[in-house]
Amino acid sequence: MAAQIRTIDQLDLAGKRVFIRVDFNVPLDEKGRVTDDARIRAALPTIRHAIGKKARVILASHLGRPKGDPSDKEKFSLEPAAQRLSELLGIDVILADDCIGDGVKKAVADLPEGKVLLLENLRFHKGEEANEESFCRELASLADVWVNDAFGTAHRAHASTAGMARFVKEKAGGFLIQKEVEYLGRVLAKPERPFVAILGGAKVSDKIKVLENLIGKADSVLIGGAMAYTFLAAKGVPVGKSRVEQDKLELARKILDQAKAKGVDFELPVDHVCATEPKETAERVVVNAQAIPDGLMGLDIGPKTLDRYRQRILAAKTVFWNGPMGLFEQKPWAEGTFGVAKAMAESPAITVVGGGDSAAAVEEAGLVDRMKHVSTGGGASLEFIEGRELPGVKILEE
Ligand code: ADP
Ligand code: MG
Repeated sequence: MAAQIRTIDQLDLAGKRVFIRVDFNVPLDEKGRVTDDARIRAALPTIRHAIGKKARVILASHLGRPKGDPSDKEKFSLEPAAQRLSELLGIDVILADDCIGDGVKKAVADLPEGKVLLLENLRFHKGEEANEESFCRELASLADVWVNDAFGTAHRAHASTAGMARFVKEKAGGFLIQKEVEYLGRVLAKPERPFVAILGGAKVSDKIKVLENLIGKADSVLIGGAMAYTFLAAKGVPVGKSRVEQDKLELARKILDQAKAKGVDFELPVDHVCATEPKETAERVVVNAQAIPDGLMGLDIGPKTLDRYRQRILAAKTVFWNGPMGLFEQKPWAEGTFGVAKAMAESPAITVVGGGDSAAAVEEAGLVDRMKHVSTGGGASLEFIEGRELPGVKILEE
């Protein structure tokens, strides 16, 4: 699935109306201020490139999930994003009062070369998520070139993320999408070996397809997080009162069998950090064995496990990580997760992180710059690693 996509630098943009689908779905505080501008910053290389090439730049995004009541207009406006973008670019950003209609058409017609117009929240119209043809055509009528740089929504076939592409003359991926597809694609298509996949997080059931796809490709699969206890329980290892998905034991056995049949080095924790309850204030008990005593629950991988995983990460040429190793939001159970992040930072391997909570953990550890790639798309990155085609990427393949 690492097919080549056409990218924005391959097109002549001068004087053209370049419609860039960005992901400005940023978190806002109660006063409507942007609390984390990472998504806006991630789109800057593409926006700056288009400005530099004298395009007439039209940006579009969704923000949150407006339900269509009138008060939503203010709550879900892209105004705060427009303001932040303007500060980051050091130029004026014009905010349209809608994303389609006569007013927008006029604003686009009046837009000079090298200037930026941000359309209002796409999800103020039902046609966006419904991918309605009439809405696709309305959006497309604003554009000579359609550029998709919103990796976070690339797994959705919405009007702006895929549908409108049918009605524009030229289309391309932005630099963010290009980087995402390059690194995630490299993990799947031609990983340098040894290829180590680390999987954790809350549930086996969320990660079945990711597990199955990676078992066919990785040399080692290292399991942590709550999902480890479902695997251990499936093998008959006592896990005390750890979180186990009782209805997934059979599936876990099947995955263990698949790993064995494929000769994959499939690692489960050999020790644990436990407590009687998942609370920051609970007593931290290191269980120096694979079996967990009655009354305790596993909340993090133990030090021996971390050391084993660390050795494999340091010896790898490719590492893909999804899913925290423990309840890392609470300090007593964060060492496994941050330890894995640190080992990845120190490894000479191509290191790629996918998944919303995993990316947040790397951010919190201050190690984003020491990974080769931290995906900006939580759900999209996992669907990609499952081996599924993302509509917003597929449409860019030549
Ligand atoms: P991602 O978003 O990176 O795909 P997930 O959503 O699958 O990751 O899982 C992240 C969540 O799993 C975190 O909130 C973390 O606290 C939780 N988690 C991991 N291990 C445990 C555990 N042993 N007990 C309880 N929660 C856990
Ligand atoms: Mg998550």
